[in-house]
Amino acid sequence: MDIHVEPIMESRLTDSTFDSLLFGVEFSDHMLLAQTEQGQWQDATILPYGNLSIPPSLSALHYGQSVFEGMKAFYVNESTVHLFRLDDHYERLTNSCHRISIPVPPKEMFIEGLKKLVALDRAWVPNKENHSLYIRPVAFASDPIIAAKASTEYTFMIICSPVGPYYPTGVKPLDLTTSTEYVRAVVGGTGYAKAAGNYAASFQPAQEVRKDGFAQIIWLDALEHRFVEEVGTMNIFFKLKDRLITPKLTGSILSGITRLSVIALAQEMGIEVSEERIDIHDMIAAFKDGELEEVFGAGTAAVIAPFGRIHHQGENIQFDLEGRGPFATKIHKAITDLQYGRVVDTHGWVHPV
Ligand SMILES: *Cc1c(COP(=O)(O)O)cnc(C)c1O
Repeated sequence: MDIHVEPIMESRLTDSTFDSLLFGVEFSDHMLLAQTEQGQWQDATILPYGNLSIPPSLSALHYGQSVFEGMKAFYVNESTVHLFRLDDHYERLTNSCHRISIPVPPKEMFIEGLKKLVALDRAWVPNKENHSLYIRPVAFASDPIIAAKASTEYTFMIICSPVGPYYPTGVKPLDLTTSTEYVRAVVGGTGYAKAAGNYAASFQPAQEVRKDGFAQIIWLDALEHRFVEEVGTMNIFFKLKDRLITPKLTGSILSGITRLSVIALAQEMGIEVSEERIDIHDMIAAFKDGELEEVFGAGTAAVIAPFGRIHHQGENIQFDLEGRGPFATKIHKAITDLQYGRVVDTHGWVHPV
């Protein structure tokens, strides 16, 4: 599989590009593009970032057959940037593609294409604290046909967006609420896939709770509205006095790469970690007993986001917090130290480019 490169004539990067970056608004000079022919992936091309021409009948627009990934490249020094846990991202893309009936892009195209693209656009990886180049692979149905069936042909792209710190004005604990009206995913559905449609259905409920001053919804299980699943675009962790717990993957929860890193690094710190079904009522009780010390979210974009308040049907878990709690701070440092190459990676997670 070849990756053909059509370089830009002149970079769009300027001295002020990284000055006040909003998330996902700026894009680097190049993108990777590949398509299937008769369902078989063809050679990829890296070409100047630019608009696509699509038919109004594009299958993905009508039926949402689209999956994506989200990862980052980190500035280490003048000659090195780091990619993180590429094999895990590829494995998840594979699982997402299977569920949404999309032919899996070849591993070589994904890994080598990503490395080549990031190497070419390395000047777009900001050399600034807590900045990175966010990388968005996406695969979608591209038949120009509106029959309700899986497409025959597909498109795969990787685009890159320089991003600043998730909390530009300092880390602020988030106020969250559960919902017993809406659910994100149901066992048997598509919750474990990074599918575009999962997001489409979550925006309206999230907008509703924002009116009441909540940043996000804590999604509960669809059947009993009792078991904690996820928060917006993050997995969730509860730090109890004697252990760290996170919801176990039941099929309706996305397997976050940051989640995997938190579990592994906490265990290395000597903390007992367990994946279990977590009843929100048990967590409210643990908070009242003084057993619950911290609650935080984990995801590529925010890395570790502290939660200040969790509201559930008139009851509250509320922490008196300025930024991240002590454990969240420690785990955030452990992850970012690896990503930015400040410590030696003994896990095989880091890929220098
Ligand atoms: C991407 C995503 C996460 C976080 O996964 P990471 O691999 O850690 O970025 C969590 N939940 C949902 C719904 C997601 O889409």
